[in-house]
Amino acid sequence: MRNEELLALDRAHVWHPYGPMPGRTDPLVVASASGVRLRLAEPAHGQAELIDGMSSWWSAIHGYNHPVLNEAARGQLDRMSHVMFGGLTHEPAVRLATRLVEITPEPLQHVFLSDSGSVAVEVAIKMCLQHWRSVGRPAKRRLLTWRGGYHGDTWQPMAVCDPEGGMHELWSGALPKHFFADPPPVTYEESYAEHLRELIGRHADELAAVIVEPVVQGAGGMRFHSPEYLRVLREACDAHDVLLVFDEIATGFGRTGTLFAADQAGVSPDVMCVGKALTGGYLSMAATLCTSRVAEGISRGEVPVLAHGPTFMGNPLASAVACASIDLLLSQDWAVEVKRIEAGLRTGLAAATEVPGVRDVRVLGAIGVVQLDHEIDMAAATEAAVRAGVWLRPFRDLIYTMPPFVTGDEDVARICAAVVAAAAAA
Ligand SMILES: *Cc1c(COP(=O)(O)O)cnc(C)c1O
Repeated sequence: MRNEELLALDRAHVWHPYGPMPGRTDPLVVASASGVRLRLAEPAHGQAELIDGMSSWWSAIHGYNHPVLNEAARGQLDRMSHVMFGGLTHEPAVRLATRLVEITPEPLQHVFLSDSGSVAVEVAIKMCLQHWRSVGRPAKRRLLTWRGGYHGDTWQPMAVCDPEGGMHELWSGALPKHFFADPPPVTYEESYAEHLRELIGRHADELAAVIVEPVVQGAGGMRFHSPEYLRVLREACDAHDVLLVFDEIATGFGRTGTLFAADQAGVSPDVMCVGKALTGGYLSMAATLCTSRVAEGISRGEVPVLAHGPTFMGNPLASAVACASIDLLLSQDWAVEVKRIEAGLRTGLAAATEVPGVRDVRVLGAIGVVQLDHEIDMAAATEAAVRAGVWLRPFRDLIYTMPPFVTGDEDVARICAAVVAAAAAA
C-alpha cells in the first residue's frame, strides 16, 4: 500500500489511542522494527529510522525483532497458537504461571492470565470484592487509592484513575465512587502517612481494597514517591482488614531498578497485576496474582469460583513468548543495564533544567521525565524529537522516556538530546 493511501484509510476508519474520528493528525507509518529502532515507511523530517524512547509504552524491554523471542514465538506457532483454556491446559501457560509465582513476592501463589492490563485490574478488583462477599462481609466493596494514579481504560480501572486526568467529570454518576487520598509526596512525610492511615481506618467497613501503583505513578502523571508509603499501606490494611493491590503493570520486570517496584519496600501485596513488559512487547497479555488467603476466601462463598474467563485466557503464543522474555531478562545482569541507563538519563537530561518553561527533571531506574510548566504543544514536541531521530510520545505537561534495556549509551544520549529539544520546542 502506498503511504498516502494507507494514511487516508487510517484517517477514515481507524481509531488510535485517545484519538478523534476521523483522525486530525497523521501518525507515522512504521514498516518494521529491530533492536531499538523503528524503521519508517517513508522518512519523516529527514529520518528513515527512529530510536524508540518509549519501549512501545513500557513493553519492549528487549527491543524489537529479538532472535530469542522470535524463536519462542515461531516454535510455539508450529505447535499451536491458541486453544481455549476452559477444561484444557498446556505447558506454556503452566510454565508462565509457575515462573510468575517464583519471581514475585512469596505469598502470591495463584495466577489469573488475561489479555490486557485493564482486564488484569478488573480481575484484581473482582477478586477483592468477591473475597469479602464470600467471607460474609458484602459491605466491603469500595476501593481507596491516591490521586495521580492510572489503572487502565475499562470501567473499574477508570474509576480509580486520577479523578482529574481520568475523565471522571465526563462519567460522574456512571462510574463507581471510590475514596481518594491526596497524591503521595516524593519523600516520606509522617503527616501524609497519617492521612493514609486515617482514611483507611475511617472507611474500613466499606473498603474491599487499597489499590496503588507502587513507587511510580505512570500515565497519571509520571510521579515518583517514597517506597516507605507502601509499608504504611501494608500496615494500615492489615490493621483494618483491607486487601492491598499493587498495580505493577508499568513498573514490573525491572523498570524501576528492582524486579518489581514493591521490592524496594520489601512489601508484599495481597493481589498484584503485571502486564506491559510481560511478553517483552510482543503480544497482549497480563496477569493477576493473588495470595492463598484471597483464593480460599473466594472458594468459601456461595459462588465458589472466580467468575471470569476471557476467550483468549492463557493464550499459548503469548505465554511462550512471556516465558522466553522473563528468562531472557533474568539470564542477564539486567539491574546493571537499568543502572547504566539511569546514569545516562541523569547526565543527558540535566541540560533540560536550563530550558525555559521546564519545571522539573526526574529520573528513576530506566525512566526519565521532564515536566514543563505548561501544556505541551504535541505537534511541535513530536517534530523536534523526530528531527533528532527519536520517537517520543509526550502527554499533558510531560515529556518522558523509558528506553528498552538494550539501548546503548550513545542511543541513550541521543534520546536525552531529543527530550531536551522537544522540551525547548514545546
Ligand atoms: C498501562 C497500564 C494499565 C492498563 O494496561 P492496558 O494493557 O493498556 O489495558 C494499567 N495499569 C497501569 C499502571 C498501566 O501502566
